[in-house]
Amino acid sequence: MSHDLLENNKEELFKLIEIDSDLAYAAGLFLSGAKRGYRHEGWDDLSDEEKNIIRKTMGKMGIKWMVYSHPERNVLLFGEMENVEAYRKLAKFPISSTDTSYVKRMGEVLDYPPCCTESFIVRGYNNPETEFLQDFSILFHFPCRTHCERTDALMPAYRMVWKFISQLNFQER
Ligand SMILES: [Zn+2]
Repeated sequence: MSHDLLENNKEELFKLIEIDSDLAYAAGLFLSGAKRGYRHEGWDDLSDEEKNIIRKTMGKMGIKWMVYSHPERNVLLFGEMENVEAYRKLAKFPISSTDTSYVKRMGEVLDYPPCCTESFIVRGYNNPETEFLQDFSILFHFPCRTHCERTDALMPAYRMVWKFISQLNFQER
């Protein structure tokens, strides 16, 4: 995991925070190697100026991205090109589709631990075991259990990027 890459892209991450802090956080996770794909569902709600800023900052940070049309709205997807390409086949489904093959492949594209995707398919949002997990809110997926090894392995990088983005967010500009 690389803190330098975050430092080097501070200005760009700054600009993303002003648009949407989750977007900046996900970009930071990608830069640090902790997350290979992210989907931002709010593309249609952005102004033209904000869209331009995103195009420029993604370019400067060297992050590959695309905008995809779902039946109900457009979403921004960024990450490894391999994943971005795999997304093409999924865009014909509604964003919140519960189709098992869709959820499974979306889990791969968005880089969620496979065990957690499997658990999500079975239990959905109702997983009493993990509801009160510490740092639950800094994850993008629902952990399958209290001590999911795959999730635990991600936590150091997630905490590091979360701290970095939070500090940037509250810095004097
Ligand atoms: Zn898991």
